[in-house]
Amino acid sequence: MARLREECGVFGIFDNKDAAALTALGLHALQHRGQEGCGIVTSDGKNFYAERRLGLVGDNFTKGKVLEKLPGSYAIGHNRYSTTGNNLIKNVQPFFADLHDGGISIAHNGNLSNARYLRRELVKNGSIFQTTSDTETIVQLIAKSKRSKIIDKIIDVLFKIQGGYALTILTNKKLIGIRDPFGIRPLVIGKLNKSYVLASETCAFDIIGAKFIREIENGEIIIITENGLESIKPFPKVKERPCIFEYIYFSRPDSIINNISVYEYRKRLGAELAKESHIEADLIIPVPDSGVPAAIGYSEKVKKNIELGIIRNHYVGRTFIEPTQQIRSLGVKLKHNVNKSLIKGKSLILIDDSLVRGTTSVKIIKMLHEAGAKEVHLKIASPPIKYPDYYGIDTPDKDELLASKLDLKGMQIFTKAKTLQFLSIEGLYKSMGHEKRNSSYPQFTDHCFTGEYPVKPIDANDKNFEENQLSFMSSKS
Ligand code: AMP
Repeated sequence: MARLREECGVFGIFDNKDAAALTALGLHALQHRGQEGCGIVTSDGKNFYAERRLGLVGDNFTKGKVLEKLPGSYAIGHNRYSTTGNNLIKNVQPFFADLHDGGISIAHNGNLSNARYLRRELVKNGSIFQTTSDTETIVQLIAKSKRSKIIDKIIDVLFKIQGGYALTILTNKKLIGIRDPFGIRPLVIGKLNKSYVLASETCAFDIIGAKFIREIENGEIIIITENGLESIKPFPKVKERPCIFEYIYFSRPDSIINNISVYEYRKRLGAELAKESHIEADLIIPVPDSGVPAAIGYSEKVKKNIELGIIRNHYVGRTFIEPTQQIRSLGVKLKHNVNKSLIKGKSLILIDDSLVRGTTSVKIIKMLHEAGAKEVHLKIASPPIKYPDYYGIDTPDKDELLASKLDLKGMQIFTKAKTLQFLSIEGLYKSMGHEKRNSSYPQFTDHCFTGEYPVKPIDANDKNFEENQLSFMSSKS
């Protein structure tokens, strides 16, 4: 079966005559969270209207007559970032279903770690799936719930699904925002004059001039109606464990998560990296754009300027969205070029935010050597990624993760770096203002580095799913 994995950005706006256009702008600001498809569903209080497209928001929702096809003052939107083989229009969200008591539309950022299990049960009981997306499982479960009110149907389903999810849901007269019990994926509330707005990141508020109000809490459901905003917390309370990778890589640097500026945090990662492992070299150069804030932090710490030794072509998407390894490597070549006059004969400190398969580092170090670099010291502003993610960040399977196959020396040889250094896990937490990682209940979910999954990945350990099903909500709090 195709992997049921979603990446994404979500947006929602309630009660604004320009709902569709503002959603298009919000999605444009969230474009980094997904570039393969985008969609907007609106409601005028009676009917729903939907437009879903493959490709970028700017290519699809800012020209022609498409926005005119989306009347109504309520809207949700979605940017999609799929993995292998799933880049089909039918998988583009928001999804819509006509239930017996009205329509419902859902946009989902994250990944359900028991979607395959639930889907199998649903199919056994006669459900017919139209897509390969885990989000359809949520729709199918809502449709099957025996509860009468839509919000109770949704709560019913929240007790079945597991994993990382941030949902925006539109019914005829309600906009609903939901975060999973651990708050793994982000979702924030803002206001544009009298209209409430929901988004994956605050940068989507900035683009439309909306004011940030607060984060939706872990395990919280926000219901927005003409009467205002209501909050429900149906789950037993557990401490939040937001995904640390949102801060390291995934979110936009100008976003603020949990009162922390993503940019400032990334700079502190670089400064901490410098404290842990500085080496004298001629130049400090970042891998653009992902390594830039960390390189600035590093250079401030060691009091040496950074130089743009690598130039990025901004018209090529993120390397990760390319569907095969072969094309991915090509993507890296298309994306980066060396600033040759700067590099020749120099020893370099090369800084990136993370190392996953090693594709980027190998290509860039090769280019730097070809341009005459004397030696390249590779520094990564996060720990080695040894474990896959099951909650909505697209990391590959374990056997493709370089750090799960090779030790430090092996990775250094593989990348052809003169030296290789990763930030320690302690450094990650220190940069976040914590004295240390709380080992009995970590402040973040850092499973990519530690293998400690807050929600057991049932689909991944298929044979153990029954046991895992029972232990889902019993995590320490
Ligand atoms: P790799 O080339 O496989 O080692 O991946 C590391 C590079 O991809 C770094 O430059 C990161 O900024 C970037 N990266 C890390 N995680 C992801 C992700 N989930 N999706 C896309 N790019 C990523």
